[in-house]
Amino acid sequence: MNVESRKKALRYLFQKVVDPLGYKFNPDEELVDFLLEQEVGLEQKHGIPFCPCQGLPKDREGRMKLVCPCIPFHREHFDYMKCCWCLLYVHKDVTDTSGLRQIPVTEIPAAAFKRGNNVR
Ligand code: SF4
Repeated sequence: MNVESRKKALRYLFQKVVDPLGYKFNPDEELVDFLLEQEVGLEQKHGIPFCPCQGLPKDREGRMKLVCPCIPFHREHFDYMKCCWCLLYVHKDVTDTSGLRQIPVTEIPAAAFKRGNNVR
């Protein structure tokens, strides 16, 4: 499968995963296209579409938490930021992405972490 076809396939699959989680693709199509292309490259290299904006940990458990879409593993953190780290996905209620940014976990109020499973 060539890169363009795989990007389309990943987009189709990822849409089905993130939609019930309350997320959608970033409306910035150029950014989405770029990130999906990076993921296809990572998938070709590692066999798995890992996160394009995070360094890969050495341990398997850490790596598995960075398989896209990693939203379930970092749910409270992303819900607070209204986006995932790469901004590939944003909350469904986001209409203006200009104010979105990565927020370090240390800057997020403890109350945002209800389940306590968001430690990286
Ligand atoms: S931060 Fe976003 S792009 Fe990266 S793996 Fe998680 S969901 Fe995918």
